[in-house]
Amino acid sequence: MISKIDHIAIAVQNLEGALETFCKVLGCDPASIRVEEVASEHVRVAFIPVGETKIELLEPMSPESAIAKYLAKNGEGMHHIALQTDSLSEETARLLGEGIKPLGEPKEGAGGKKIVFLHPKETNRVLLEFAEKGH
Ligand code: ZN
Repeated sequence: MISKIDHIAIAVQNLEGALETFCKVLGCDPASIRVEEVASEHVRVAFIPVGETKIELLEPMSPESAIAKYLAKNGEGMHHIALQTDSLSEETARLLGEGIKPLGEPKEGAGGKKIVFLHPKETNRVLLEFAEKGH
């Protein structure tokens, strides 16, 4: 079952600069936000809590990163919406039943969460991430 929007992700060129900007807007202290490297995706990420959900800032660590390619093509901006689910395997089985194929196999994302993406062509050009609720 999908329980909430886990986060909304924004692709940025400079994580520290973006963190400062978003903390000014949201009224938080940038020093209180943890920056994490997700080596498998060649990105650095920061999650800013906003009530029940979060804003994720994504900065590429290398040109091979999907985020680097995204920035080269589209510039900075909204990258994906992540939905929280209790069970990623149940959710992907349900999606396959609806004829919607996830992009590859579930993998480990930021915070060690199990995640999978859907191709934007399946969902009106919005990239969706499914993230399994941490236990
Ligand atoms: Zn995400």
